[in-house]
Parts: sequence; structure tokens; C-alpha cells
Amino acid sequence: MSGSEDCIFCKIVRGEIPASVVFEDDVCMAFMDIFPVKTGHCLLIPKKHYTNMLDVDPDVVAHLAKRLSELTRKVNNAMKPDGVLNVVANGPGAGQEVPHLHIHVIPRNHDDEFRFQFPKGYRDKMAEREELDRVAGLIREA
Ligand code: 5GP
Ligand code: ZN
Repeated sequence: MSGSEDCIFCKIVRGEIPASVVFEDDVCMAFMDIFPVKTGHCLLIPKKHYTNMLDVDPDVVAHLAKRLSELTRKVNNAMKPDGVLNVVANGPGAGQEVPHLHIHVIPRNHDDEFRFQFPKGYRDKMAEREELDRVAGLIREA
């Protein structure tokens, strides 16, 4: 639970700072992002402080996953976008700014300015099967 005293999302959970709550239960809370990328941009968090997917309890993730599908459908029904993006940044190197696990739920449209961008030219060449097998092995054994 390190960092939970000063953590902005723990403060939201404790009711110390305001949030526009979509739903909550014993384990998690969904609320509107204060700097929405698009109207309807929500965050789903565990109420207990975990930094990200690297330290979270798997049972908590299982609960979050159930509620994530519900939140994603609700955002889709309410906003009627062309699609809905679910994103989690794990660590500053992945773009995580708030060190309390949160899953972004972001309505997307074909013509919106927001881009989830892969590097240019990344599809020019398919990976070699040997290389994919080698990396799969590294991850499998880790
Ligand atoms: P990250 O970059 O860590 O994946 O995303 C953090 C998100 O938290 C950002 O989208 C940011 O707008 C949102 N955020 C930061 N502070 C607050 C806050 O006090 N309240 C709410 N509702 N969202 C916040
Ligand atoms: Zn926290």
C-alpha cells in the first residue's frame, strides 16, 4: 500500500477529493477522467492501492476485468462512438503518470484527433517465426 497517503486516486476513493463516479463496489470504482481525451473518457481503478499490473493481486484483476467489460459497454451505449479503447500504462516508461492502477476507457471515432500510434513502417516486414518463438520462450520462462 506504499504511497497511498498522497495518492490522488486513493484520495478519490476516500472521498477527500471530488470525482464524477459512474459506479463503485467494494473492490473498484469507475469515474470520469478529469482531462478527458474524448467526452466519455472514464477510468476504472481498484479501491486498494496497487501501482499497476506488475504488483496487483490477480483476484482483483479478475474483478476489474468483469467490471471493465460492463463499463466499456456502458460507454459504448451512452456515447455511441465508432469504437472504445481500453488502455493500461504500467510504469512511467509506458506513459503511466498516476501510480495507482487504472484502466482507461476511451470512446474513439474514425476521424478523432487522438491516436494510439504504432511506429511508422512497423508493418513493412513480418517478424521471423524463429524470432517470435524465441521471444515467446523468454516470456514463458520469466
Ligand atoms: P496515466 O497517464 O497515468 O495513464 O493517466 C492518468 C490519468 O488520470 C490522466 O488521463 C489524467 O487526466 C487523470 N487524472 C489525473 N488526476 C486526476 C484527478 O484528480 N481526477 C481524475 N478524475 N482524473 C485525474
Ligand atoms: Zn492509490
